[in-house]
Amino acid sequence: MTPIVRRSLAWPAVVAALTLATLAGAGSAAALAVGGVGAVAVVAYHLWHLWRIAAWAAGPPDARVPDGYGVWGPLLTLIHRRVRARNVYEQDLRNVIARFEAAASAMPDGVVVLDAADRIEVANPRAQALLGLDAAHDRGQPIVNLVRQPGFLAYLEAGDFGDVALVPSGREPARMLALQLVPFAAGRKLLMARDVTEREAVARMRREFIANVSHELKTPLTVIAGFIETLQDLELDPAQRARFLGLMREQAHNMQRLVADLLTLSALESEDHPLVDEEVDVAALLRAAADEAKLLSRGQHAVDVDAGPAAIVHGSHDELASAYGNLVSNAIRYTPSGGRVALSWRIGPDGTGVLAVADTGIGIAAEYLPRLAERFYRVDRSRSRATGGTGLGLAIVKHVALRHGGELAIESERGRGSTFAIRLPASRVVPAASVTSSAAPRGTAA
Ligand code: ADP
Repeated sequence: MTPIVRRSLAWPAVVAALTLATLAGAGSAAALAVGGVGAVAVVAYHLWHLWRIAAWAAGPPDARVPDGYGVWGPLLTLIHRRVRARNVYEQDLRNVIARFEAAASAMPDGVVVLDAADRIEVANPRAQALLGLDAAHDRGQPIVNLVRQPGFLAYLEAGDFGDVALVPSGREPARMLALQLVPFAAGRKLLMARDVTEREAVARMRREFIANVSHELKTPLTVIAGFIETLQDLELDPAQRARFLGLMREQAHNMQRLVADLLTLSALESEDHPLVDEEVDVAALLRAAADEAKLLSRGQHAVDVDAGPAAIVHGSHDELASAYGNLVSNAIRYTPSGGRVALSWRIGPDGTGVLAVADTGIGIAAEYLPRLAERFYRVDRSRSRATGGTGLGLAIVKHVALRHGGELAIESERGRGSTFAIRLPASRVVPAASVTSSAAPRGTAA
């Protein structure tokens, strides 16, 4: 018998003993009265405690356990201890849940917890943003009512969750999402959502780039292979032979130029090639570019040079010379004979340096301008090829400008001509008057 049960029997035992003693000393009527009063007192005492416990149990969850007297004292103390232990346990659980929610909120990926029937239980803020869910409103909704892209529905249906489903975002179809389901306890699933727009764009660019390079190499290789077969199979007279060999050499040069431009681009993009900081003499750079223009033009164009204010530019001489050389070569190639090509350098009021090439050539319609510096983008493919273009020149120029903290600016009008300019930030431009370094700048004419 537990102490509490023993104590609970103490008062009924006292009443019984008093009743018996009264029966022996004062007769049955008095014993009945004593027993009756004692029994009512004991029942009232218990009822009073029961009523207080019932009121506490029906009250707010954090209400204090009532105090008790007599046998109820230790009993209510035990209940009080249990309630306190439960409160501590619940608080611990609440803390764990709060930490879990904070971690889920901090996750860069969207996470949705689905129950065994694929209904939404919880969704972190990122999932709400990516999938257009409203955690409070959509709780309990089947996920297929809210994520309705056919790719996801087929993925869910197939039940093979080792892979991911790539689907366009329901909110912004231009964005791509990778969705993955991860089954866990008792048929539940985690739906992980990640925005892979940039990654997919890079992968697409890489695929397109490889396809473009293969295509660019295929054409000259096919021509060369065809001529080799002809030379092997046919008896040709020396003049025909010389012509075929000349055409083969031209195609080989095209491939060499393409490979050289590809290597230049890859070096410009590589993190192993930080920009060198040389003092580049702009006037000498302009003079060299003008000589190159005259050589390419073979006297078919007027070549003007406006060397502007003497200055040096902090940057890579070779990169700037190669970029500017590309602009000059384009100007000559896209300007019919008799046209004019003008090379110039100026420093703007804000100190920005502008290396420009203007021509009176074929010009470019406005709709083509935004894509002009993309690799292999050409307005007129056959003209570019016919003049030995690789389709990479402006991509190289843009990269060089960006590496120097500048930009490539293009103005053009179809049929009237174009101006291509490399704008260099003032921080790289030192007008001659303020040159203090005694070191001879690179590019200075001997
Ligand atoms: P490409 O080797 O084909 O010249 P670029 O990258 O240098 O490649 O130029 C991309 C395209 O921009 C060219 O194919 C041509 O259509 C156009 N373009 C470039 N420079 C000029 C220019 N000065 N005048 C007219 N079109 C130009």
